[in-house]
Amino acid sequence: MSNYDVVVIGSGPGGYVGAIRCAQLGMKTALIEKYDTLGGTCLNVGCIPSKALLDSSEHFHNATHNFKQHGIELGSIKADIKQMIARKNEVVSQTCSGIKFLMDKNKIDVFHGMGSLVDSTTVLVKGTEEKTLKAKNIIIATGSKPNYFPGMEPDKKRIITSTEALSMTEIPKKMLVIGGGVIGLELGSVYGRLGTEIEVVEFAPNIIPTMDGTMSKELTKVLKKEGFKFHFEHRVQKVENTGKGVKLTALNKKGEEVTLEADYCLVAVGRKPYTEGLGLENAGIKVNDRGQVEVNDHLQTNVPNIYAIGDVVRGAMLAHKAEEEGVFVAELLAGQKPHLNYDLIPGVVYTWPEVAAVGKTEEELKAVNVPFKSGAFPIKALGRARASMDIMGTVKVLAHAETDEILGVHMIAPRAADLIMEAVTAMEYRASAEDIARICHPHPTYSEAVKEAALAATADRALHI
Ligand code: FAD
Ligand code: NAD
Repeated sequence: MSNYDVVVIGSGPGGYVGAIRCAQLGMKTALIEKYDTLGGTCLNVGCIPSKALLDSSEHFHNATHNFKQHGIELGSIKADIKQMIARKNEVVSQTCSGIKFLMDKNKIDVFHGMGSLVDSTTVLVKGTEEKTLKAKNIIIATGSKPNYFPGMEPDKKRIITSTEALSMTEIPKKMLVIGGGVIGLELGSVYGRLGTEIEVVEFAPNIIPTMDGTMSKELTKVLKKEGFKFHFEHRVQKVENTGKGVKLTALNKKGEEVTLEADYCLVAVGRKPYTEGLGLENAGIKVNDRGQVEVNDHLQTNVPNIYAIGDVVRGAMLAHKAEEEGVFVAELLAGQKPHLNYDLIPGVVYTWPEVAAVGKTEEELKAVNVPFKSGAFPIKALGRARASMDIMGTVKVLAHAETDEILGVHMIAPRAADLIMEAVTAMEYRASAEDIARICHPHPTYSEAVKEAALAATADRALHI
């Protein structure tokens, strides 16, 4: 039996970052991971591999669609999916090894095997051998798994989840995507750019339904231009593997049956918390009706020395949110008073152009009757955009009508994932739209669109439109 100050179960961005911070603060720390590699969903089958394939497919798309206009003739171009997947695997492998290095550097004991609670201070690890760990505190960071609804159960062959879509051995001729959310649109973009016909079947009347309406409209236009087809307000009844492909039956908003056929069907209708085999009942830990481990404002479960973070608890299922929660709990355990601002967690969709947002959407502000002003600036009006031929998109700044405080920033723009950080920083310091508008932005850059949208929100005084 080994004794620890903290045992962390799950090595995703929540767990491994939490473990590093615990070790930095002088706690004897153990990390348990059921798979052979560290890094969780994010590094193995999430953020990193999807971005690797998005980048490869973006290069292919540019080579086939844009290089000629830049004056670059390449002759015949072919996408080699096997090489793309091999490169993606190499990126994943290097990134996961980096986590192993960080664990060693911080003297964190890593145990590979299924971790389960025996009671509130004992964790059993079942790997190649069994090990019992005693812990003063436990952090549950077991993450999430793909969700699905009756009739669309993935068989992982033709009816696939994001995990299989990240390791395809062929470029499908046609792929159905159930769910026009982040995963559906990112992985749909990967294969769409490689030539796959993509048809999205979405329950809601628009894509990325929780984001600002302008972003949804703009992204729909971009993706339609890329060849995506959308079936909105469709209720999927059944998806079958027909041997050589899939057949999907759905009801449209008039209640009529619609049948769609393709080579593959990607099910991307959200993710669910993962607590199977964790033995929550042995410690008396409560879960809510969505299967999430219940936590208070300190991320503490109903058992005082057991905490939970990341996708397994309420809130956005994002790697950076999980990381911040890992740091938060570690600092709390060390007696510090950490702070986490859930209102300012940025969200990004890595299509091209990227969509990024922070703060309230226009729809949210209207729903709670907050008086606001809106300023927008089109990307095509930037010199930088015309120089690079990346002219799609817009930046929108929402500010309080009376105080001018920035309440939300939404953008669809090249490198929006990076641009959004100016807004996050400004909002963290409760800046006004005029504050951003008066800051000198380098020219020519995409960041000028943020300044111009802020100028537009301040007093309708954008300079270049
Ligand atoms: P996870 O990363 O899910 O890690 C949990 C770990 O716990 C896993 O390794 C699991 O094996 C282990 N585990 C579970 N139970 C046990 C047990 N009993 N014993 C031992 N180990 C256990 N987020 C972003 O912010 N940006 C992105 O670009 C992004 N892209 C994504 C793309 C895809 C395709 C997917 C699927 C997700 C993406 N996400 C992205 C979401 C992101 O991956 C998650 O929000 C993040 O990984 C959650 O971190 P976590 O630490 O809570 O859990
Ligand atoms: P999501 O919640 O983003 O999107 C799911 C979509 O499926 C929604 O548009 C929803 O209306 C639709 N839907 C739900 N039920 C449906 C049904 N029965 N039929 C048709 N459509 C239906 O979920 P996701 O795309 O699966 O992603 C899961 C999680 O992973 C998200 O919470 C996201 O935060 C995270 N993720 C983040 C990134 C990123 O940060 N770039 C990338 C990938 C995944």
